[in-house]
Amino acid sequence: MKKILWEIQYLSLPLVSKHCKKCGKKSRFSCFEKFRVNARRRSLDIWLIYNCLNCDTSWNAKVYSHISPQSLNLLQLEGFQNNSRSLVEKYAMDMDFLYRNGVDEVDIPQYSIIGEVFLPSEDVELEIESKFLFPVKVSAIIREKLHLSQAEYLRLIDNGNLKSIPEQDLKKCKLKRGVTLVFRS
Ligand SMILES: [Zn+2]
Repeated sequence: MKKILWEIQYLSLPLVSKHCKKCGKKSRFSCFEKFRVNARRRSLDIWLIYNCLNCDTSWNAKVYSHISPQSLNLLQLEGFQNNSRSLVEKYAMDMDFLYRNGVDEVDIPQYSIIGEVFLPSEDVELEIESKFLFPVKVSAIIREKLHLSQAEYLRLIDNGNLKSIPEQDLKKCKLKRGVTLVFRS
């Protein structure tokens, strides 16, 4: 059976919604892609900076608060000070981190699906992988990439031509880190 891998690549960092003090209402914030690092002798604080899209007021999401400066090694600290892209992504793409910081909503960023297209009538074992955990529906990914209508997608499932390993409800399930699917004619 032909094996195919698709990778979900997110095209931006997610916008978040939360109350903005200056606007006096809920607003959307975008990640400024920079950390604020406050290092004193005994205490280290690190935040990831966001800006309100409406009034540009900044809001800081707490990464570390009052930790001992020794709890990070020099390389980690430099990563925050230099706004390392991978560290920015690690936090800005982490919905749990954002919800812990009190945001009301996290928008799922636009994504592209990288990988080979095939016909749903082919025998294919398809693996879909994502580095980041956003609740994207598996059905939306497959339908978009293979250009299937909702009815065509449902027919594949109802006829047993599409299954997941282990078995999940492919009408509803979300991607998480990844999923393995089997298309059988
Ligand atoms: Zn605002």
